[in-house]
Amino acid sequence: MTSAVVVGAGPNGLAAAAFLARAGLEVTLLEAADEIGGGTRSHEALLPGLLHDHCSAIHPTAVASPALRALALEQHGLRWRLADIDCVHPLDDGSAGVLMRSVTDTARHLGPDGTRYRALFTTPVRHWDTLAPDVLGPLLRVPSHPLLLARFGLPTTLPATVLARLFRTPQARALWAGVAAHALRPLSRPFTSAVGLGILTAGHAGGWAVAEGGSRSIARGMESVLREHAVTLHTGVRVTDRRQLPPADVTLLDLDPGQVVALYGDRMPARARAAYQRFRRAPGVFKLDLAVQGGVPWTNEHARRASTVHLGGPIAEVAQAERDVVAGRMPERPFVLVGQQYLADPSRSVGDIHPVYTYAHVPYGYDADATEAIFRQLERFAPGVRDRVVAQQATSPSRFAALNPNFAGGDIVTGAKTTRQLLLGPRPALDPYATGVPGVFLCSAATPPCPGAHGICGAAAATAALRHVRSRSR
Ligand SMILES: Cc1cc2nc3c(=O)[nH]c(=O)nc-3n(C[C@H](O)[C@H](O)[C@H](O)COP(=O)(O)OP(=O)(O)OC[C@H]3O[C@@H](n4cnc5c(N)ncnc54)[C@H](O)[C@@H]3O)c2cc1C
Repeated sequence: MTSAVVVGAGPNGLAAAAFLARAGLEVTLLEAADEIGGGTRSHEALLPGLLHDHCSAIHPTAVASPALRALALEQHGLRWRLADIDCVHPLDDGSAGVLMRSVTDTARHLGPDGTRYRALFTTPVRHWDTLAPDVLGPLLRVPSHPLLLARFGLPTTLPATVLARLFRTPQARALWAGVAAHALRPLSRPFTSAVGLGILTAGHAGGWAVAEGGSRSIARGMESVLREHAVTLHTGVRVTDRRQLPPADVTLLDLDPGQVVALYGDRMPARARAAYQRFRRAPGVFKLDLAVQGGVPWTNEHARRASTVHLGGPIAEVAQAERDVVAGRMPERPFVLVGQQYLADPSRSVGDIHPVYTYAHVPYGYDADATEAIFRQLERFAPGVRDRVVAQQATSPSRFAALNPNFAGGDIVTGAKTTRQLLLGPRPALDPYATGVPGVFLCSAATPPCPGAHGICGAAAATAALRHVRSRSR
């Protein structure tokens, strides 16, 4: 029987293992932590019963993911839940950019910018099911729907600050900048519209959903698929030497490129190894989980109903903050993301104490405390919030790295999404998942199409591995 070993049980490692097992391979999965899930773990560290997501929280790309759909995780217990409003970006005058589930409702909230918003998103959202495999698939291949893809793809090449000129109101421009800031790049760089357009289009198609019972429900759903296919799963095994791995026909690594070099550097072709060693990391995040009595007292009413709130003020301020963190400077007013998942999934709260999830973009490896900077941004748009906090826990970039080397320096997107790394992963090659070592594939979020808990990198790497198996058996 053909065998596979997968190292790392994040969403991509789990998806890779599931697709290999479904294809009939005998799969062993090794995970360093005591619990599977990687970036889809959840915890009750602040108060018993109060459920916080450790990493990923909001899932527009997972809901829209062709890989997760193919695994039918709903049949394995996963339930997606939506808040009334997907995302709000408040401004100092109390107004806000408001992102609703539908393009039409969003356009209505954007007033004079509504027509242009509708023009940008109506077609890609209507055709999302057709477009998704091309947009979320490996980019270096012949697309199935080239005209539709070209129509979607052209704006993605623009810097986010250039695309923002489509809009006239500060609310629409700020809303756009906050979503584009998920790329963790200076917004004036080419292709920084790609991540924002991808998230918005996927979000209008399926919503900015949260997983009922925490993001760990995504991992649990995938674990149930693995059990169905008799995958052997070992937790608590950190692989630091390839001699720890059982013999296998193919090996898939849900790791950052640095660890791949540590494991296989001596067998990699020199150019591939050099490219992996040059792999650039993104800025980090500093996370602050809060237990908030009565919820956050946002000045803007819409923010009280939104699963995600972006704090960064007007577009110029967001762009400056992103420029600063990429340049290694801590901004006075960092971009802060606030997750209020409990609004979609009330089972996460304890009475009127609610789990509020926040993180600030900070320089890579930032080793000072960003708690005050986060509270300043919160108080700016929700005066009095500090008095409602009954417990808090910070996770610094170095703590993220200790918990999961893929997030070294607090880089939650597993590598800078420069144009080259976004399109090609760590090295230019026809197969972005091939490490250059025959039978060894990279399947983490360091590969295309993008970071997120959608499992698409894992599914695509599994396809590459199965191609390799078939070519050897011919
Ligand atoms: C704070 C934060 C917020 C985020 N928010 C969102 C969000 O809202 N929505 C979203 O879609 N995404 C979000 N993300 C990103 C998302 O979590 C990642 O893109 C995703 O988890 C990447 O999946 P992966 O499988 O590639 O890697 P990971 O999830 O990093 O999993 C890798 C796994 O490999 C294990 N591992 C590492 N090294 C070894 C080793 N040597 N031996 C054995 N095992 C090893 C790790 O323990 C881990 O379990 C967030 C991430 C963070 C940290």
